[in-house]
Amino acid sequence: MTPPLILTSDLEGVLIPEIWIAVAEKTGIAALRRTTRDVPDYDVLMRGRLAILREHGLTLADIQAVIATLDPLPGAAAFLEQVRDAMQVIIVSDTFYEFAAPLMRKLAMPTLFCHRLLTDDAGMIDGYALRLPDSKTRTVEALRQIGFRIAAVGDSYNDTGMLGAADHGILFCPPDNVIAEFPWFPVVRDHATLLERLLAIRG
Ligand SMILES: [Mg+2]
Repeated sequence: MTPPLILTSDLEGVLIPEIWIAVAEKTGIAALRRTTRDVPDYDVLMRGRLAILREHGLTLADIQAVIATLDPLPGAAAFLEQVRDAMQVIIVSDTFYEFAAPLMRKLAMPTLFCHRLLTDDAGMIDGYALRLPDSKTRTVEALRQIGFRIAAVGDSYNDTGMLGAADHGILFCPPDNVIAEFPWFPVVRDHATLLERLLAIRG
C-alpha cells in the first residue's frame, strides 16, 4: 500500500511575501532588506536585523502591527484551502511564530513548524530560539521515518535540503541561481499548476 502523502511547504515566497522585505518597505529602513543572499551567516544576519530594530526603537508589537497589514500572496489562500482538502499540510518555515501569527489567520490556521523570538521587558526583540537546527530537512526525515510519503515545496536555498529529503521536491518561483544550482528539481510558477502536480503525486 502507498503511504499517505503529506505536503511540507515553505511559507515565505510560496504563500506569503518575504516578511523582512515587507517590513523594510513599510518602515522605510532599507538596511532590513538584506537577506541570506547578502549575509550568508544566518546568525550574523539576524543579530544585525535585531540591532537595527533596537536602533530605531521598534518593538515586537511595532513589527507585528506592520506584519498585520500584509496579505498572503495572490491565490495562496485559495490554493491552501484546496490542497488541504486533498492531503495533510504542514508549513515548515524558518520564520518565527510571533511574526507569522497574523498571516496564519488569513490562511485559515494551517499547522506551522517554525522558531521563536525572545523579548525583553520593554518588548524589544533581544534574540531568537531555533526549535532545532536544519529544521526543514529534519522535519521531512522524521515524517518519512514514521510512515509518511512527503511532497515538499519551497522557493529558495534554505529549502533545497528539505526538497532533497522528500519523496518529491518542487521549486516554486525560485530565483535563477537556485534553478541553475539544483536543476533536478521541477520548477512550478503558479499555484494552479502546483495544485495539479500535487494531486498527480497523491494519485
Ligand atoms: Mg521561502
